Amino acid sequence: MAGFASKKSALASALGLALMSAGAARALNVPAAKAAIDQKLDQQYPRLDALYKDIHSHPELGFQEARTARVLAAQMRALGFEVTEGVGKTGLVAIYRNGPGPTVMVRTELDALPLEEKTGLPYASHATQVWRGKETPVDHACGHDIHMAVWVGVARTLTALKGQWSGTLMFIAQPAEETVGGAQAMLNDGLFTRFKKPDYGFALHVGPGPFGQVAYRSGVVSSNSDDLEVTFTGKGGHGSMPNLTIDPVMMAGRFIVDVQDVISREKDPSRFGVISIGSVQAGAAGNVIPDTALLRGTIRSFDPEVRSRMIDGIGRTARAEAAMAGAPEPKVEVSPGGKAVINDQGLTERSAAVLKTAFAGKAALLSDPNPASEDYSEFIIAGVPSFFFSLGGLDPDALAKAKAAHALVAANHSPYFAPVPEPTIRTGVEAMSLVVMNVMPPAPA
Ligand SMILES: [Zn+2]
Ligand SMILES: [Zn+2]
Repeated sequence: MAGFASKKSALASALGLALMSAGAARALNVPAAKAAIDQKLDQQYPRLDALYKDIHSHPELGFQEARTARVLAAQMRALGFEVTEGVGKTGLVAIYRNGPGPTVMVRTELDALPLEEKTGLPYASHATQVWRGKETPVDHACGHDIHMAVWVGVARTLTALKGQWSGTLMFIAQPAEETVGGAQAMLNDGLFTRFKKPDYGFALHVGPGPFGQVAYRSGVVSSNSDDLEVTFTGKGGHGSMPNLTIDPVMMAGRFIVDVQDVISREKDPSRFGVISIGSVQAGAAGNVIPDTALLRGTIRSFDPEVRSRMIDGIGRTARAEAAMAGAPEPKVEVSPGGKAVINDQGLTERSAAVLKTAFAGKAALLSDPNPASEDYSEFIIAGVPSFFFSLGGLDPDALAKAKAAHALVAANHSPYFAPVPEPTIRTGVEAMSLVVMNVMPPAPA
């Protein structure tokens, strides 16, 4: 019995080995590939830097990224990609066929945020666009402009090295990541039916880590995000006669504070969950108590149990505030936003091994997921095994100084967020080019 079992397992492991060697694209010679990528990068870096600064100073909001999409489309056509514009309103699909092999998707976002840049950089944005009916300053405060420069850089590097790999590149530029909806819009517009559904997907996000560093984890990478809207309705009147009114501003004020009890008293403290109210709208005059107060916020979680617990607590707290004031029931709306990004375990292991070899101590394993949220998850849910990783963007010396002074560092969505273009873009191009080449077989001899 024992003999039979061991024979069987020997056969299984031999078969396993055979399967593995057929399934694995190749053992990428990482140092040689990195040297080749760096050589191409040296030639093209000034152009990438110029592209980055141009995009940075011309940011556009979700589904309004007409100029940005045009700039990227022209770059990709010049490299020999077949470009389709207007996929999911302003999205782009750029295909490059280079022999037999897998189809590999690389995604960037196109959109910026409705806030005023305060970095004081020479290439800072002074752009405005209409946001919710109002002319509003626009800033690439999430670093999607870094992603676009990396995306074009990877396309240029991989086409320059086309003799070293075989397969199809599917580069997509997605609109409206910040408002969540751009990924779904591309899928609804036939991203995986009009074009081939890719075998692998890759994306990265720049953050406030040290530049030169890449970081990753298997499994859950980012949070579930839900949008929250609470409308308190009272009875307006004169500010000097509050006894004749039901004041919705008081209800809103109490709710903003009390809802944090859901986090501190109801949710399991060892599990991640956040509620933040980012927008408060009520009345226009100081001496008029308005009829209504509208609050907008965001709810973040990693697991569904914590999520439903928070949503339940939010509703109860809002209704209790209204009941206490003798007001009608408030309107509480929770709309699901981005779902958690979940990295494919096998692809993460393959990619992490390459990044570890290429970047040694500067390739870090993340112990926790990121509390931010990302609609790249829609592509994963649609069936594309993916690897989504982080790219550091800030000067390590400046970070060390800030840490020593217990100062806060400006991260994504801050008007002061300023990733350092070089070497951030270089590291992004190196890392992304390597993980893509790693899933492609070598070009047929
Ligand atoms: Zn963002
Ligand atoms: Zn972002």
